[in-house]
Amino acid sequence: MSAPAVMRAWAVGRPGPVDGGPLEAVERPVPEPGPGEVRVAVSVCGVCRTDLHLAEGDLTPRRPGVVPGHEVVGRVDRNGAGSSRFAEGDRVGIPWLARTCGRCRFCRSAAENLCTDPRFTGWDVDGGYAQFAVVDEAFAYALPDGLSDVETAPLLCAGIIGYRALQRADLPPGGRLGIYGFGGSAHLTAQIALADGATVHVMTRAPEARRLALELGAASAGDASDPPPEPLDAAILFAPVGTLVLPALEALDRGGTLAIAGIHLSDIPVLDYQRHLFNERTLRSVTANTRGDGHAFLERAADIGIQVTTTPYPFDRADRALVDLAHDDVNGAAVLVFADDD
Ligand SMILES: [Zn+2]
Ligand SMILES: [Zn+2]
Repeated sequence: MSAPAVMRAWAVGRPGPVDGGPLEAVERPVPEPGPGEVRVAVSVCGVCRTDLHLAEGDLTPRRPGVVPGHEVVGRVDRNGAGSSRFAEGDRVGIPWLARTCGRCRFCRSAAENLCTDPRFTGWDVDGGYAQFAVVDEAFAYALPDGLSDVETAPLLCAGIIGYRALQRADLPPGGRLGIYGFGGSAHLTAQIALADGATVHVMTRAPEARRLALELGAASAGDASDPPPEPLDAAILFAPVGTLVLPALEALDRGGTLAIAGIHLSDIPVLDYQRHLFNERTLRSVTANTRGDGHAFLERAADIGIQVTTTPYPFDRADRALVDLAHDDVNGAAVLVFADDD
């Protein structure tokens, strides 16, 4: 396969309000894969809220003019020196975690999500808002069959993070799970929990999301801070809203756990020890994910035939996709799709 010398991409020019157009359409040299890397011809790239944080400057840019995008599905088009894990034409995924140091005590203890010197796709290194992207072969995912490229892209961040949050919530078998907020990540996580036999209660302000929750098999769907109809063994807070920590803790049964899934959360109000924490309730955060989480989730998602709700945009409309996401105008997960003849 021969690639062109230049490619079309989107880059974060000057971060700022998304309506001011912080994304710029650019031409870039097609990247060459280094040792241990592969180059991927991008087919679909999911649009994650983190891309929006980056474009708007909420996330401090780590590299000027970076190409965003970390839910990348495509086909290997070239191997770098010494790369042998994939063959040309293999379908692979490029996720948020681009590289870890492999040396710190977290990397050495199966907790690479806590690596002290990690690199992230679309933040430290160029991502998938481009015709081609390069990835360390050890951090790429071989993708299961059975789901289309469009359906697979949102699994690579929204899905994996939700899966880790579910592990962190320590839901016992057949337990009662509360889900606060019901967007791209939550609607995937709920399906895993339901397949495992959990009873799921969803609390979200969006009527459409409540409908989707019930359709997928949730036992109840209430407003964002409503008490669930029964005490919870575990809960996950997906909404980036600190005030919801209190009702979520209060909804836990004795010994229950609340996991906070987001990378950003507004301030948590003052806790009342007796009301919100006593009786051995636990409050936890979730930070990135390990490759083990990713492999386990992708396998499970394929097994249960996970249903992924998406809104596709042509690649040329990445700027539009971000604006729509900022205004909560996206149904399910937004994805950028390259035309076949690109
Ligand atoms: Zn490390
Ligand atoms: Zn993401």
